[in-house]
Amino acid sequence: LLLAYEPAKRLARVQVGLAESLVAVKALFGVLDHPISVTEADEHPPLVLKRGRIDVDDVSFGYRANEEVLHGITLSVDQGKRLALVGPSGGGKSTILSLIQRFYDVKKGAIRVDDQDIRTVSIGSLRQHIAFVSQDVFLFSGSVRDNIRIGRLDATDAEVEAAARDAFAHEFITALPNGYDSTVGENGVQLSGGQRQRVAIARAILKNAPILLLDEATSALDSESERMIQAALDRLVEGRTTIVIAHRLATILNSDEIAVIEHGRVLERGTHAELVRKAGLYEKLYRYQFAEDPTLERQSA
Ligand code: ADP
Ligand code: MG
Repeated sequence: LLLAYEPAKRLARVQVGLAESLVAVKALFGVLDHPISVTEADEHPPLVLKRGRIDVDDVSFGYRANEEVLHGITLSVDQGKRLALVGPSGGGKSTILSLIQRFYDVKKGAIRVDDQDIRTVSIGSLRQHIAFVSQDVFLFSGSVRDNIRIGRLDATDAEVEAAARDAFAHEFITALPNGYDSTVGENGVQLSGGQRQRVAIARAILKNAPILLLDEATSALDSESERMIQAALDRLVEGRTTIVIAHRLATILNSDEIAVIEHGRVLERGTHAELVRKAGLYEKLYRYQFAEDPTLERQSA
């Protein structure tokens, strides 16, 4: 009995160590995520999530005191709907996603989730309901498994694997020298951009948050990765309130609404068909960026 007990105890100790390091990583994420501009003791009550509706109401914001980058942005997205943000680089799209997660506080106006001003609820509860898939995926030094588990610390190995399968990541992970136990990050195996993104998607699937914020990659991926990532994202988006910074035509066409952001303002809002008819900036972007896109033919065929 003693012999059988000892290894189990050791194992338990190892697992506690792992959980602790994951908490430490979470804390690190927290530090990285919380710019000093938002200081709050988290004494606010938790966000009460009803539907997952997001309202950005006449929001102005600047990173520096005398430099406004958003000027009276108004947007909304209802439960389970998909809003695409498009527009020239530097227009303020990523900033909008940062403000919704309260990495910074708005200077004017308000952001509400289910009619609750996000400044009146705890930051932890707000972020708990939001999954964020960004362009640059942060992998910490640790196993692939732990890098996915950061999405939800109490997930079982089976749940981690199920998320990886849904993210089309299981296959490449099991092909790594040590499978899910392979070390990634600085001194570990090198993952391609497409593989890193699928790890990020697996994290988000595991988190299973009702609100999804997505900054689509601009960088060219190999077509195999591209296809799998698109399929994984389609799965992830399903049934969630989504705001996506869209660079792919397929994403834009599948959105319920498109907002064109330029110089910190909402220039146009509407469906793809409405905006094409309007013959404004969207129609121009669409013509120049996507006219030769092969997916266009597939979509219209
Ligand atoms: P987009 O995502 O549409 O390309 P961004 O939201 O990244 O636009 O940027 C909007 C403006 O804010 C740009 O002028 C950019 O240089 C500036 N900006 C973005 N992030 C920061 C930051 N962390 N500090 C200072 N300025 C920033
Ligand atoms: Mg951006």
